[in-house]
Amino acid sequence: MTAADDCLFCKIVAGEIPAEVVHVTESAVAFRDINAQAPTHVLVVPRDHYANAVELAEGDPAATAELVRVAAAVATAEGHDDYRLVFNTGPGVGQTVFHAHLHLLAGRPMTWPPG
Ligand code: IMP
Repeated sequence: MTAADDCLFCKIVAGEIPAEVVHVTESAVAFRDINAQAPTHVLVVPRDHYANAVELAEGDPAATAELVRVAAAVATAEGHDDYRLVFNTGPGVGQTVFHAHLHLLAGRPMTWPPG
């Protein structure tokens, strides 16, 4: 497993910082967002450290697909047929944690385009 110093999500993956974990697999961990923007707001992260989704996709395509599978499993487990999956990529669009993470948002009406 590769981890980065001072990475919040690496610390959550390692169990060094508490989180409400809802699903784990060999390559991914899913936990509730601390500042939920919807009734279901879960972050799915690779266990290995990659700064964003593009670096993850280039470095480990299988782990990238696993994030989507885990998000779908969590959505189903929480009773959602419809949901939004988001990879914020870069600070200009709101990425604040530079460990790749897939947002799963569900449980309320959503508009498009997003803000
Ligand atoms: P980003 O803005 O796409 O980088 O998403 C980062 C997300 O991490 C935000 O939605 C934050 O609310 C969430 N977050 C930050 N710190 C924690 C934490 O300690 N536990 C769970 N979620 C967190």
